[in-house]
Amino acid sequence: MNERTSISGRNTLDWDVIAAALDGVELIREPVLVKKRSRDFFWYSPILNRKLKACFGDLVARPANADQMARCLAVAHAHDAPLVLRGGGTGNYGQSVPLDGGLIIDTTAMNRVLEIGTGFVRAEAGALMADINAALADSGQELAMFPSTQDIATIGGFVAGGSGGIGSVAHGMLRDPGNLIALSALSVEAAPRLHRFDGADALHIHHAWGLNGAITDVTVRTVPLQEWIGCIASFDCYTDAYAAGYALASDRALGCKLLSVVDARIGAYFPRLKGHVRDGADLLVAMVPAEGLDRLRAIVVAQGGAVDIALDEPARKAAGLPHVFEFSYNHTTLQVLKSDRSATYQQIGVPDAADVGAIARVAADLGKDVWQHHEFARRGGEVVSFDLPIIWYHSDERLAEINAIYEAHGFPVYDAHAFHVEGGGLKNADYRHLAWKKRMDPKGLMNSGKSLAWPQVRDLPADEIERMARKD
Ligand SMILES: Cc1cc2nc3c(=O)[nH]c(=O)nc-3n(C[C@H](O)[C@H](O)[C@H](O)COP(=O)(O)OP(=O)(O)OC[C@H]3O[C@@H](n4cnc5c(N)ncnc54)[C@H](O)[C@@H]3O)c2cc1C
Repeated sequence: MNERTSISGRNTLDWDVIAAALDGVELIREPVLVKKRSRDFFWYSPILNRKLKACFGDLVARPANADQMARCLAVAHAHDAPLVLRGGGTGNYGQSVPLDGGLIIDTTAMNRVLEIGTGFVRAEAGALMADINAALADSGQELAMFPSTQDIATIGGFVAGGSGGIGSVAHGMLRDPGNLIALSALSVEAAPRLHRFDGADALHIHHAWGLNGAITDVTVRTVPLQEWIGCIASFDCYTDAYAAGYALASDRALGCKLLSVVDARIGAYFPRLKGHVRDGADLLVAMVPAEGLDRLRAIVVAQGGAVDIALDEPARKAAGLPHVFEFSYNHTTLQVLKSDRSATYQQIGVPDAADVGAIARVAADLGKDVWQHHEFARRGGEVVSFDLPIIWYHSDERLAEINAIYEAHGFPVYDAHAFHVEGGGLKNADYRHLAWKKRMDPKGLMNSGKSLAWPQVRDLPADEIERMARKD
């Protein structure tokens, strides 16, 4: 090990030499700052926290444009240096944590919105989602979807690591046709090449965790800007709140942008809502177009609920309240973790979003340490839902038992406590991703250690790996 220059202690590279080769690119070498930029939100999981908290990079480069990014990749290639792309670092599974140390390429200086047209926006990979939405407003448009972390998450990180978010209940998941329009990505070679992926081909790179190309710019779908009303409705019973959410999600003409159902016990961890929503109630969190508010109220009331908050943007700001989407998606977990670090969560598919009875039955078997929270979305046009429950962590064994209860009820578990790409959302090896890894990163330097299947295929030609995808 090169003890003098390695912060990670996980490789023998001479980081002084590598830093010198990157002269002209903004670099961060201060160990405290390098360590800070080596983390993401893996600490949501006690298991990942144990495994990843001592993994750090050695050097951070902050390229200003695609040419500088290409230089970073060429230098990493020349030195056989492991490298990790990093946007806002809001991933949940250690997606941007360098397992083998190495170069962290922070994209946040590549943040220009390059082109706005009707129905699309093209932005550099490091542009923040919130900044893109702000830039779109002048053209009367907004992003079809964005993660609840929009203030710090980048478009490149969303496409490489995310899957959907606010807007998915109206427009589907990011992978659904028309949402991700194109992207460009650089290979890791002596002379990095820029590849463009259009339409469905962009899925070769989408959700591959930066294993198979460094995204330089992304084109995504935009939709006409609407006046959104952020709503929170309260219910006496979780399944009533869920049924109202399902009815609203199914009402395509209504066009809600967000529908989340939150167990009353989780709502108790939302101090900023105190005095605004009924204490002890199960909650339905929604974003509805202004003209649909009466319809939403009618559906909520028909299910036995009441709308406690219904605010447009100026009224929300005047009331000093956060966006309602800060009580949805993984922000729900964050609100609880702010008060108590013994909480964690899981990602659970719901086999039939319409089956409220199945939600109640699994809840009854789960026990008091699991508090449900459902998000509605569309996949391939159909309404789907998934559960992101709060789990009070006792032991790895109890977590495994909770997973087993969900699975026994037919609810698939997309494990949020695994740091391999095959462990969570993908579940299986994605050989199409790996074929492109072979083409884009033949030395296997990108986000090394994050794919369990890569070591088994790395010596095969890309076309053969691709054939394995067709057999799958
Ligand atoms: C509170 C909270 C709420 C969240 N809500 C949502 C949500 O609503 N929807 C959702 O999908 N996710 C959500 N997430 C997960 C995460 O926020 C999103 O995936 C987010 O879009 C990631 O963006 P980022 O810029 O932070 O990416 P990072 O965390 O920096 O990176 C994510 C992955 O992408 C790779 N990557 C980053 N930039 C590039 C690039 N230019 N080229 C290639 N690879 C790259 C990284 O190596 C890493 O593997 C949430 C997370 C938290 C903590």
